[in-house]
Amino acid sequence: MMRIDPEPLLTAGQIAARVSELAAEIRRDLADDRPVVLGVLKGAAFFTADLARALGMDAEVEFIRARSYSGTESGGRVEVFGLDRLSLAGRTVLLVEDIVDTGTTLAALLAGLHAAGAATVRVCALLDKPSRRKTPVTPDYAGFVVENRFVVGYGLDYEERFRTLPEIHVLA
Ligand code: 5GP
Repeated sequence: MMRIDPEPLLTAGQIAARVSELAAEIRRDLADDRPVVLGVLKGAAFFTADLARALGMDAEVEFIRARSYSGTESGGRVEVFGLDRLSLAGRTVLLVEDIVDTGTTLAALLAGLHAAGAATVRVCALLDKPSRRKTPVTPDYAGFVVENRFVVGYGLDYEERFRTLPEIHVLA
């Protein structure tokens, strides 16, 4: 039975405050671009919804799905679903991720977005675990840096559990 640390690592209030700050920064940078806010399911679904609302700007909202297969030797293979039905050529895309860990997923998503012809891609990740990086990618906007610990809540799951928690906890 998996459990979580009862004390949140990040409270709902801390998350909401940081989302507002990120939104203000992004609004300053991308206000003229009518960006496509592109959330990565399922982990970033809640973050994307809150961030998009906080942006208070003319933006479109879309979602794609990424699935990584760990266990393969060469750092894992990533499958991206849903990019093909979007028209991103020439657009400014704000890719919204839950967490950048090894960077494998983000690198694959960036390659996909550039292949789709996006003119500008900015990455906003709620959480960043730089100590785990295997691929040199860095989010343009990062909510919080976290240590090498597995976290759940606010959209992040462990085997589909804990996703609906309003705050972020460390898996015990
Ligand atoms: P990467 O390709 O950067 O290694 O992994 C990115 C994906 O792995 C994230 O989008 C997320 O779905 C999952 N992941 C990495 N670290 C964590 C974590 O601490 N908690 C949860 N729930 N998922 C994580």
